[in-house]
Amino acid sequence: MSEGLSEIILGLEGVGHSYDGQTEVVSSFSLGVGAGEIVCLLGPSGCGKSTVLRLAAGLEPLQKGRIKLRGETIAEGESRISEPPERRNVGLVFQDFALFPHLTVARNVAFGLSGLADDQRSQRVQEALSQVGMGAYLGAYPHALSGGQQQRVALARALAPRPSVMLLDEPFSGLDARLREQIRDDTLRVLKRSGAATLLVTHDPEEAMFMADRIYLMQAGRLIQSGPPAEVYARPNSEFAAKFFSNINELEGIVQDGAVATPLGPIPASGWTAGSRVKVLFRPECLDCVPANGNLNGAAGRAILPATVTEVRFIGVARLLRVLATPAGGPALDLQVRTGGAFAPEVGAKVGLSLDPAQAFVFGPG
Ligand code: ADP
Repeated sequence: MSEGLSEIILGLEGVGHSYDGQTEVVSSFSLGVGAGEIVCLLGPSGCGKSTVLRLAAGLEPLQKGRIKLRGETIAEGESRISEPPERRNVGLVFQDFALFPHLTVARNVAFGLSGLADDQRSQRVQEALSQVGMGAYLGAYPHALSGGQQQRVALARALAPRPSVMLLDEPFSGLDARLREQIRDDTLRVLKRSGAATLLVTHDPEEAMFMADRIYLMQAGRLIQSGPPAEVYARPNSEFAAKFFSNINELEGIVQDGAVATPLGPIPASGWTAGSRVKVLFRPECLDCVPANGNLNGAAGRAILPATVTEVRFIGVARLLRVLATPAGGPALDLQVRTGGAFAPEVGAKVGLSLDPAQAFVFGPG
């Protein structure tokens, strides 16, 4: 879902923040989250993701810019208007779950449900817990639950007041890898069913790609790129964006006649002036690896670069190879290949490499 297609529920406009009054840790940051949409704020640790989320929640006073809920300004830096967190109709989930240890699961979930009659409140608690598969744990205390179960209760507690906005800060980081996948999957479904506009903070690109309708990639307090996961992955707008999502291979070359000549064939570089020194980046899975048979013309007439496998790592769904190529007249190339096919070369095997030029990215020397 993109902006314009659905009503923007949460809007941030030109938001900036400094903790010490000198250095801005978030600068001129804007985003919009539509109803039923999941937006992931992604970036390296310390880039300002949690600060954006805390500003949206009202946990930090807004210094610059504006925050809107359904088009209405709820916080404004200049005029120092700020609705307190409890008036913002947001549900919050944090990495450490933040459940009250002395309250049962039911009372934890009931905590944010003021203003309802007792029977209505009990019904809402039961509903919220059933939604996350924890309907049988009403009387349990948090310490008796696994990490995954605590996370589910935290999600139920945040959803019980039926907020129009859900804000989640690294909600899966405290869980071990196997459980994390399951809980992510379940959480995605529950959030989508709730219809809330969701902003989720994560430093993990795979998590962002799995969860998000749109990703906002941040670096040093600024927005670098936003868009649907497949688009940000396939068309990164910068070297930083390209490198954030996966390991990457890197070649250098000079632009001539709208292309860069590389040992893997010419890579289109329209928009670059002749003579520019550029970097060509491509992901390990974009390199085709075939048995070497001496044929130097691969599919679609592409150049095939002979190489030797120097390392093989098996990771279940794929093999990660390192290969060494020694093109005539150029430096040796140490490249990474990710291959999921039946071809499983051993260390020392001679292979041929080819690259679809459309899957390579050209950037300046940086
Ligand atoms: P992220 O969520 O991307 O890891 P944060 O928003 O937590 O980033 O932090 C952004 C920057 O602000 C970091 O340099 C961090 O050290 C700093 N910071 C975060 N919280 C505080 C705080 N309460 N006081 C001072 N500096 C802070």
